[in-house]
Amino acid sequence: MRGAHCKSLRASGELFLIKPFSFRKRKMPLRINLGGIVPFSTIDWRGKAAMVIFLRRCSLRCIYCQNYNLLEDDNYVELQEIEEDIKKNEDFIDAVVLSGGEPFMQPRAIVAISKYAKKRALFVGVQTNGFYPEVIESMLKDEGKEELIDKIFLDIKAPLSDEKLYDKLTKVPNVVERVRNTLDVCVHAQKIDLELVTTVFKNLVGAEEVTRIAKELEEAGAAHCPYVIQQGRIELVPGKVIKEADVFSHEELKKLAALAYRAAYLKDIRIRTKEDGEEVIYRRDQW
Ligand code: SF4
Repeated sequence: MRGAHCKSLRASGELFLIKPFSFRKRKMPLRINLGGIVPFSTIDWRGKAAMVIFLRRCSLRCIYCQNYNLLEDDNYVELQEIEEDIKKNEDFIDAVVLSGGEPFMQPRAIVAISKYAKKRALFVGVQTNGFYPEVIESMLKDEGKEELIDKIFLDIKAPLSDEKLYDKLTKVPNVVERVRNTLDVCVHAQKIDLELVTTVFKNLVGAEEVTRIAKELEEAGAAHCPYVIQQGRIELVPGKVIKEADVFSHEELKKLAALAYRAAYLKDIRIRTKEDGEEVIYRRDQW
C-alpha cells in the first residue's frame, strides 16, 4: 500500500488528529546467492574477455558436475558487492557471463546484474541447463528486459529424444521436455544469440549421441547456431563415477565434430578442450 493517510477520531468528546502516516515501502536491497567470481576468462565466450559470475543452487544433479560445491549451500551477498567487482574489472573485459549452478533460478539477480553490466557498456551472456523455459520466455518478452541478455549458452546434455539418458545424466526426471521448450524459445528469440553445448564422455555421451543431437538441432531450427562439443573433465567430479579413461582426447573430439558435420547441415561446429580452449573445426561459409 502506498500514500499518506490522515484520520480523525472522536474520543472522550475530543478530536484527536493522527499524524499522516506513510505506508511507502522501503526498497530492500537485492541479495544474490553467489558462488564466486572469475574476474577474467577467455574460454567462456569465444572472442570476448569475460568476467564469470557463478550463482548458487541448481535444479539438476548431473553425474559429471564440476561445480557440485555450488549446489547445496547458500552465500548471500548484496548486489552492490557484485557491481563493485564489475566496475573494478570493466577496463579489462568485454562481457559478463552468468554461470552456476543454474542462473535462471535467480531471475531477479540476472536482471539486476545485467542492467548494471549494460550501464557499463558490457555484453551479457547466460549459461543455462535449460530447465526454466518460462523464466527465459517471460524475460525476453518483458519490455525493458528483452535486451538485457545478448547470448544464451544452452546445454544439450543428451539427445532430446532420449529421455532416459537425460534423466540418468541429470538425476532429475522429466528434464528433456523443458530443455526442448528452452531451445524453441531461444531459437525464436529475435534479439539473442544462441550457442549449444554438449559435454561428452566415453560410454555416456559419445559418437551416437552427438550424431543424434546434431540432427535434432537442425530439425529444431538451430542449425545457424554454433554447436560446441565440450571435453568432459573428471578433476572435480565427485565419487569417481567417471574415470580418466572416459575422457575424449583432442583428436577424438575432432572425430566427433566430423560426425556432427556429416550428420546435419550445421553452420559452425566447434570443440572445447582443457588444453586448447575452443576451436572452430567446421564452418559452412555459404549460409
Ligand atoms: S546443470 Fe551444471 S551446475 Fe547443475 S548439476 Fe548439471 S553440471 Fe552441475
